[in-house]
Amino acid sequence: MVFSKLKEARNSERRSRRLDLLAEPPEAGHELFVGFSSLRDTLSSRHHSRDFAFAHARYLRSRVLALGIIFAILSPLWIVVDALVLPTAVLKYTLIGRVVLMLGLVAVLLLALFSQERIRRIRFCAGMLLALPAAFYTLVLVMLPPGELHNLVGYGFIPFLLVASLSVFPFTLLESLFAGIALLALQVFSQVVDGSWLTGHGAEAFWLLSSLLAVAMAANHFQLSLLLRLYRQATHDPLTGLFNRGALEVHLAKIQAWQRDTEGLDSAGSVPCSLLMLDLDNFKQINDTFGHSVGDGVLSQFADVLIRQTRKHDCTARYGGEEFVVLLLGSGQARAMEIAERIRFAVEAFEFLDRNRRRIPVTTSIGVTQLMQDEPAQEAPKRADEALYRAKHAGRNRVMPAESFPA
Ligand code: GH3
Ligand code: MG
Ligand code: MG
Repeated sequence: MVFSKLKEARNSERRSRRLDLLAEPPEAGHELFVGFSSLRDTLSSRHHSRDFAFAHARYLRSRVLALGIIFAILSPLWIVVDALVLPTAVLKYTLIGRVVLMLGLVAVLLLALFSQERIRRIRFCAGMLLALPAAFYTLVLVMLPPGELHNLVGYGFIPFLLVASLSVFPFTLLESLFAGIALLALQVFSQVVDGSWLTGHGAEAFWLLSSLLAVAMAANHFQLSLLLRLYRQATHDPLTGLFNRGALEVHLAKIQAWQRDTEGLDSAGSVPCSLLMLDLDNFKQINDTFGHSVGDGVLSQFADVLIRQTRKHDCTARYGGEEFVVLLLGSGQARAMEIAERIRFAVEAFEFLDRNRRRIPVTTSIGVTQLMQDEPAQEAPKRADEALYRAKHAGRNRVMPAESFPA
């Protein structure tokens, strides 16, 4: 009797736990598993945006610094092992190599330390971090008198250690593959030198190294696709796919810094840049008349119009609910006014449709201003917002320049 009650209570608890799970379905597109669908993104960096390339370089740099420090500490510690194990005659061959290796590692560390946001240089540092120990190992193999190789302790593991290190870096698959092939070649060379090439033992070691490379490349793929996904979630608006406000502000500050850097480099001065602030007219009414989900559809169609009307290197962002910002690189105030007018007209002419293919009349008001290099990053949006406010008051569906920059 008591047992059956206990059993009943346990079953009902299990049932309610299952119901709890059902009550909270996973969000659409919220996958914990980052699968192979993103192979195109992880194969090479060709399809990465410039902004992601900077984020990627920062991440790569932190790994270069961490692994560089580990290698720089391990390298002198290994001298102690060598001193205990190797005959004195052999020790001198490895000692010189180790000192050169340590100096090289310190140089790579310093270069990485002073290469913030320098994408190519950071890639070079990561490559050198793997190439230096490989070169050291090659040197020892070449310099050591024949017959002394069996005295070396742990040196045969260097290619394995380097292939395993590949998985620490968010390398693209092609980068890892090239590094891996070079390390496999090093393994073949070491086997030729120690005579194990084309023997059972040599084939076993080669197979193990190849398997390790495959695992390292899988780790690269998952690491890079996770990084891409996190980057997209942190910087993009999920409804429209445009940049979010945070990403826009970072971009804006970067453009201003770049303008300051390039000022005076040529006679034309620095490249101008303008900012458009757009707000949909009477959007609340669209929501009230057609429903919130139709309103969402209008926002995403509006984003498509903006993308079509701007160039690839312009930055288009969703600033807030139904407010958008476009940064026009290379356009001064007068040119920006023309582009804004073109966008305003394109929105008015575009056929926004609801689910029943009924046309929804949509217009937008736009405030325009040119960026000034010496002002804080939040000033230009403020100025454009003030111009937008005047556009609304003047009757909506129009473009208005900021007062400090009359067209
Ligand atoms: P105005 O011409 O002066 O800009 O009028 P408005 O109605 O567009 O301005 P208001 O700021 O009063 O309304 C903005 C509306 O935008 C209110 C809010 O419900 C709606 N909104 C904000 N974010 C979203 C969203 O993500 N989806 C939908 N459907 N509506 C949104
Ligand atoms: Mg509005
Ligand atoms: Mg608004």
